[in-house]
Amino acid sequence: MSEMMKQYIDEAEQALLHTYNRYQVVLDKGDGVYLYDMDGKKYLDFVSGIAVFALGYNNKEYNDALKAQIDKLIHTSNYYYNVPAIEAAKKLKKVSGLDRVFFTNSGAEAIEGAIKAARKYAYLKDGTTDHEIIAMEHSFHGRTMGALSVTGNPKYREAFEPMIGNIRFANMNDLDSVKACVNEKTCAILFETVQGEGGIYPATKEFMEGVRALCDEKGILLILDEIQCGMGRTGSMFAWQRYGVKPDIMTTAKALGCGVPVGAFLMTEEVAKQSLTSGDHGTTYGGNPLAAAAINKVLDLFEQNNIIENVQIVGAYLEEQLELLAKEFDCIETRRGVGLMQGLVFKAPVADIINKALDKGLILINAGTNIIRFVPSLVISKDNVDEMIGILRTCL
Ligand SMILES: *Cc1c(COP(=O)(O)O)cnc(C)c1O
Repeated sequence: MSEMMKQYIDEAEQALLHTYNRYQVVLDKGDGVYLYDMDGKKYLDFVSGIAVFALGYNNKEYNDALKAQIDKLIHTSNYYYNVPAIEAAKKLKKVSGLDRVFFTNSGAEAIEGAIKAARKYAYLKDGTTDHEIIAMEHSFHGRTMGALSVTGNPKYREAFEPMIGNIRFANMNDLDSVKACVNEKTCAILFETVQGEGGIYPATKEFMEGVRALCDEKGILLILDEIQCGMGRTGSMFAWQRYGVKPDIMTTAKALGCGVPVGAFLMTEEVAKQSLTSGDHGTTYGGNPLAAAAINKVLDLFEQNNIIENVQIVGAYLEEQLELLAKEFDCIETRRGVGLMQGLVFKAPVADIINKALDKGLILINAGTNIIRFVPSLVISKDNVDEMIGILRTCL
């Protein structure tokens, strides 16, 4: 590492709040599925900014669209209409099959909005306010107080109690545990279609169908968090589309803007017409012309470049290669995941492996202490998978 890079890292440690254990690298630029640090060292990136840069780095069409929008109009208040936001909302409706969109600046804010929408819906239905939400253990929904309140990891919540009230935790893929939490006050059941931070746990088909039926029977809203697993990552535009089960409310973010900070929550017309209304919710930046231009271009490029087809092909290949690795190495317990959202579960902490990989020019990230998570750009090729496996093998 150069003296200059070392110095920048020192300066970072003095200036920034110590909320992250950062890897010892200062990243400088990206191209396709590769990143470069400030010394010019090249890295194969299997993290993509945590499932964000779906289209790869330095995509010319995406960059040009943003530059054009910057020269035209970056921001207007949501009190006025703007064409990029209108176009982005239409496109999101089309790919999701949901009816109404609210743009946010981040995933956590999309969760906040979804919670408010569900509470308002229940309030208008029975006139009371102490409704409950069922969330899952090992879930992750963000760091703001509402999102934290539905995050099933006590470690993240403890110091910040009290959370927002009336949240119950059930277990993912255990329908009985969900049923045990339901009562006449339950207004929503919320989970990630594929749990990300909690260790790459996909919902089973039985669970999805069971929860949907339970929601229909009891008049409860199903909220699916697609912030990490959505936007093509599992081989369909949104992960729930593979199950034939539709949510009432959905959150998205991360790859939605491919690097420009955006998110959204969407809902069916049925929910929208008796939920948030004028004055109930707002944001200064959410869906501003620059952010919306990013969403527009991302959705166009997904279609033009057959991104989802690539995920199906390369995702299946990644899965196969990780399976082989899991069979070959005793230190690996199992593989879990769907498409280009995969996890290798180790018998011991993976921090050393990830640091070794970084040293050898491969960027990986964990999900929990024992799991290496693979959430690369959706434009990766089989050759990139082979290259990754080759480097990872030397680190085991
Ligand atoms: C990242 C993530 C969030 C939070 O998104 P931010 O943009 O970091 O606020 C919420 N839910 C899931 C499933 C996530 O992966």
